[in-house]
This record gives sequence, structure tokens and C-alpha cells, in this order.
Amino acid sequence: MAMHIDRLCVVGVGLIGGSFARALRKAGVVKEIVGCNRDKDQLQKAIDLGVIDSAETDISKAVTGAHLIVVATPVGAMESVFAQIAQKLDPNAILTDVGSSKASVVAAVRSAFGKIPTNFVPGHPIAGTEKSGVEASFPELFRDRKVILTPLPETDVAAVLRVRQAWAAAGAQVVEMSVQHHDQVLAATSHLPHVLAYSLVHCLAQMDDSQEIFNYAAGGFRDFTRIASSDPRMWHDICLANRDELLGVIKTFGMELEQLAKALRSGDGQYLLKVFQQAKEARDRFAEKK
Ligand code: NAP
Repeated sequence: MAMHIDRLCVVGVGLIGGSFARALRKAGVVKEIVGCNRDKDQLQKAIDLGVIDSAETDISKAVTGAHLIVVATPVGAMESVFAQIAQKLDPNAILTDVGSSKASVVAAVRSAFGKIPTNFVPGHPIAGTEKSGVEASFPELFRDRKVILTPLPETDVAAVLRVRQAWAAAGAQVVEMSVQHHDQVLAATSHLPHVLAYSLVHCLAQMDDSQEIFNYAAGGFRDFTRIASSDPRMWHDICLANRDELLGVIKTFGMELEQLAKALRSGDGQYLLKVFQQAKEARDRFAEKK
């Protein structure tokens, strides 16, 4: 069955929601797109940029008559967003989200609806930039990038197929995994790196001669810390939402760092060389695969 959506509703027309709308429009699979934010000026901007056709600040009005609803707000806002959607959801409409943590989103849906609706498909595109807002959105953001869906035992397979088709139309590769596995993997590969980038920059910025340090920072520092320019509020939400998994990897990483410090204290060059060599090989393999 060819993919076609008569009415798409994007709740949270920012970087991710805006890029999804743009990608589906570019693929020619959507007839009408309604966007919903709290801020009217942002919505007007989304209309002016051609990202959405119409705008609503009232979520229950925005979702009325929609065939596919994508929630792309920060994860901390999702509980209240889903509570508003729950009042008006057409049982045939498919509901999905793009939140960076999945157990918290599933819990928010369960509490809003009192159960998991069969047409709810949790999702997370593994694509983004350190920028926010609809101005930063672009239709190619998801091209050749992975999107993880974490269907639940209650989830209807036909709903999963529709969401798969939508992401495929946006150029993404869709994979499925459990909620718990998603949250473990993303804690390690995304949430920990953001915490490290923020804390490194914060630590250096607190030093007395921080200006002097930043003056001499070169490309390596810029590469390593790019993601510390990401939206603090969004990452505050994600870290709290996935706190248990994140604490687990912070602990593991802390032990790794302590081992390195121990080797430095005792002048154990062999240990340093072994760790750096293994890390380089792992990074090179990963870069080659990409
Ligand atoms: P963003 O650019 O800041 O966009 C968020 C949008 O949500 C804004 O348009 C905001 O507009 C709207 N919003 C916030 N609270 C709302 C509410 N209560 N009701 C309705 N709209 C609301 O953020 P983003 O980077 O697109 O991230 C969106 C989601 O994608 C997050 O859940 C994030 O975890 C996930 N994600 C992000 C990335 C990434 O790299 N950025 C990657 C994958 C997934 P108003 O403030 O006007 O309401």
C-alpha cells in the first residue's frame, strides 16, 4: 500500500517536528499539515517557511481530524501534551512521538490514557543537530539515518507499519527494539556524551584563567564540545527522563576515568597505550561503517 497521509498533525514544530513535516511534504506523501506549539509567533514562522499549512495553539483542536499525530515537544512536556491529546484522539488516528527517552514517554502515555492505546507507536529518530526551532529544520535531516521504534505488546502491527512507512518516506532506516534496550543504548551513546560535553566545558569555564584556556582551544576541543551548544532545557528533560540508565553509564565511565588516573599516577604507560589503542581501533571501525 502506497504511503499517503491526508492530515498530519505535528505537536511541537521545532527542529525535529519541523524536519519531519518538511521531509514528508517533500516526499509528496502528505496532503495537509497542521502544527501546534504554545507560541503563536513560532507557528507563524512555520507557516511562512512553508513547513505547516495551518496552526493551532490548542492541542485538542490541532489533533481533531488528524490521521497521523507526531509529538515532537521536549520530553518533559509530553505528559501534559498526551493528557490533552487523550481527550480528543480519534480511535483510528495513529499516534507516535520522537522523544529521546522511551520509558518516560510510555509512562506519560499510560498515565494520560489510563492504558496504552493500540495505535500508539513510540519512536526516536537518531538524527539531530545542536540547533533548535523550526528555522533550523530541513527535509534531509533523517535521510539515511536510523529511526528506532519501540512498539509495546499492546501496539497494533498495522500502526507500526504506517509509522515505518512515514519514516521511510522521510528517507530513514527503521529499526525496532524494546523500550529498555533503547534507553540503555541511548544513555551510553547519546545522553552520556552530552553530559560529558556539558561538564567538560562547564569545568573549564569555572577555572580562573578560563578565557585564556578557550583562546588556545583548537579543533579537537571544538569537535568534542559541539554538543554542549545543544538546548540546555531539552537536555535537562532527557537526562531526568532517563536518569536510571544514565546514572549506570556515568558510574561505569567514572571507573574508567579513575583507572586512567591511577595509571597516570603510577606512570603506567602500557595501560594508557592499551586503552588508547583499543579506543582508536573501535572509533576507526565505527567511522568506517558510517
Ligand atoms: P525544539 O527545536 O526546541 O522544538 C520543540 C518544539 O516543541 C518547539 O516548537 C516548542 O514550541 C514546542 N513545545 C514545547 N513545549 C510544548 C508544549 N507543552 N505544547 C506544545 N508544543 C510545545 O526541540 P527538538 O530538538 O525538535 O526536540 C523535540 C523532541 O525531539 C524532544 O523530545 C527531543 O528529545 C527529541 N529529539 C531531539 C533530537 C535533537 O538532536 N535535537 C534528536 C532526536 C530526538 P513552543 O515553545 O512555542 O511551544
